[in-house]
Amino acid sequence: MSKRRRLDKPDPAHLERLRALVSAGAEQRPAVYRMIAPDGEVIYVGKSKSLRARLLSYFRGTWPADKGMRILAAADTIEWTYVPSEFAALREELHLIKKWRPRSNVVGKRDARHYAFIRLTAGRAPRLQVVRGAGDGRGMFYGPFVGAVRLGDAVRELADALGLRDCTLDRRMQFDDQRELWQHEARTPGCIRYEIKRCLGPCIAACSSTAYDARVQLARAFLDGHDDSPLAELRARMLEASDALEFERAASMRDKLQRLEGLRESFARLRFAVETLTFAYPVAGHFGDDRIYLVRRGRVVGDLPAEGRLDDLEALTALAGTIEEHAGARGTAIPPHEIDELLLLSSWFRAHPGELARAVRADGSRAEALAESA
Ligand code: SF4
Repeated sequence: MSKRRRLDKPDPAHLERLRALVSAGAEQRPAVYRMIAPDGEVIYVGKSKSLRARLLSYFRGTWPADKGMRILAAADTIEWTYVPSEFAALREELHLIKKWRPRSNVVGKRDARHYAFIRLTAGRAPRLQVVRGAGDGRGMFYGPFVGAVRLGDAVRELADALGLRDCTLDRRMQFDDQRELWQHEARTPGCIRYEIKRCLGPCIAACSSTAYDARVQLARAFLDGHDDSPLAELRARMLEASDALEFERAASMRDKLQRLEGLRESFARLRFAVETLTFAYPVAGHFGDDRIYLVRRGRVVGDLPAEGRLDDLEALTALAGTIEEHAGARGTAIPPHEIDELLLLSSWFRAHPGELARAVRADGSRAEALAESA
């Protein structure tokens, strides 16, 4: 990618040339467009359901206040591709922005203020974080959730209950089963969480990597929400301690158990109803290019020509029944590269509830309004 240049006020002849290009060729239909610099760099990708009107609006901007005018000043030409619908344009725009990362596009900020995710970081001693987007794309992501502050509180509680660390990612970890790596080093915990039994202490070799990993697996099972194994495990350990007459330890387990049960409710309240975004979504296209999108948990897993089935409830129901086959086996964790698409679809259906009402689930019902708890 070329370096940023200081932009001079655009030459009127330059603007007139671009305007003539648009006037001569751009039609009033959905499309994705690209602003291209003289060296071929794609500097901006945009979409519109009415391409011609959108592109002409750029020329009404003022220099240098309007971003559109600054983009025109840097562009040598404009190219576009027609797509069947505004929804198709949204998806293609996201695809192209990810592909080219144009310098004038804000990447990964779509609806980011509204939703947050829980990230289980990668590395030797993973930790839980609340994040707005995929970041560097490493780790496992759960969500989206609404209410980042309350989510942060709940995540801290979960880390405390399971003894997971919450320190900075660059802190050095020293596991008990890797003695040869740390035996000559001082063993002072990096924070008070180990002393007050909120962290297993992987920074001072107070636990083995196996023990820490077991807690990480509990966190994953808890966040997957598919089973109560973290709760069941704590319950079993509480009974074990009680049977062994270790009442202090049993009481500590009981407290943890109660906190986790409360957390399960909190997460359920905070979780945005992404499960509702599983259906066959028919979209009428320009010039009859009608499509049916198979959507699973907020991501498109299939894109088919409608072939006369736009309003055919029976056919849409049957297609919705095939969604799991298209998706393959997946848990609730979201691959980082799909987070932007999930945010895109959540945002689309929130802004267009009428579109949601046309979508059909596998049981033949129409999709309902998106449920949010915030
Ligand atoms: S005790 Fe150590 S590993 Fe745990 S949070 Fe504190 S600094 Fe991190």
